[in-house]
Amino acid sequence: MNKPYNEAEHYAKNWQQQLAEAFNSIEDLCAYLNLSPDELPVSVAATHSFALRVPLSFAACIEKGNPDDPLLRQVLPVNDETLIYPGYSNDPVGDIPAAAQTGVIHKYQGRALLINTGSCAINCRYCFRRNFPYAELQLGKQQEEAAMTYIATDASITEVILSGGDPLLLNDERLARLITQLNTIKQIKRIRIHSRLPIVLPARITEALTHALRDSTQQTVVVVHCNHVNEINSRVITACKRLKDSGITLLNQSVLLRGVNDHADTLCALSEGLFDIGIIPYYLHLLDKATGTAHFDVPETEALRLTRQMQDRLPGYLVPRLVKEQAGTTAKQAIF
Ligand code: SF4
Repeated sequence: MNKPYNEAEHYAKNWQQQLAEAFNSIEDLCAYLNLSPDELPVSVAATHSFALRVPLSFAACIEKGNPDDPLLRQVLPVNDETLIYPGYSNDPVGDIPAAAQTGVIHKYQGRALLINTGSCAINCRYCFRRNFPYAELQLGKQQEEAAMTYIATDASITEVILSGGDPLLLNDERLARLITQLNTIKQIKRIRIHSRLPIVLPARITEALTHALRDSTQQTVVVVHCNHVNEINSRVITACKRLKDSGITLLNQSVLLRGVNDHADTLCALSEGLFDIGIIPYYLHLLDKATGTAHFDVPETEALRLTRQMQDRLPGYLVPRLVKEQAGTTAKQAIF
């Protein structure tokens, strides 16, 4: 990263260059935020297994000088991540046993999920796939043909989910090829893309990308991932408008996180902020119990209470479904 940051120059660069300039050290991030690492419970050891990565567009939404900022908590590696708790594992949702073949997870009726990349633009400390063996299970170019054959020969699969990591980190050419291949499979009705990039690296939502998505003969649904209304800045609004204007359905999934969004006021503000920019609040997930994430957990009873408070204050369409995922089950469990 170049220091000091020239923000105007940074945002004038393309998304790959912006990504290359993401913060990747505790010191640099803290310096940018006017915080002293010595006064925070930071852990360099936690970055050995799961690196720090924060694009400037997201870091710019963090309140400078505030060690308790809810966005900072999502990305700052801390000592709690190195503690071991019973009930937490490296594959909390049972992805590995559900891998039908390299890069293809076939867990739920009617849907198959492609693990397109192991990379993300941001490394969220609570991530359920933070310990996922991407090196063995991500879909490389060599496995694409076999993956398409698997999907095409199972007539029950009508929706394909591009996931990761973050599938929008694939370059336009590879994404367009994937979409073109999927478009040739008759029974596929929808391509769903799970991505945090419209929120954390909005420069990725280029006209070329939206054209590729719009040209798909199958419906495109983009499920973004936003946990707090402060993540929505003017660049995010522009990116989401571009997707919306291309006829893409936009949904949001968030994770209920201790110290981030575990108040009804915060969750209501998030729903309102999302809907203001054309995104339907779709899922509120209980934490998936991945090793290193226990300090983010909000118990189910508290989650239920918070969701009921949201229901008392918001129209139904702004209350996300409270869900949890359990390894070995055939569907997400709706709690509310
Ligand atoms: S963007 Fe999603 S997959 Fe990537 S680290 Fe964050 S939660 Fe995990």
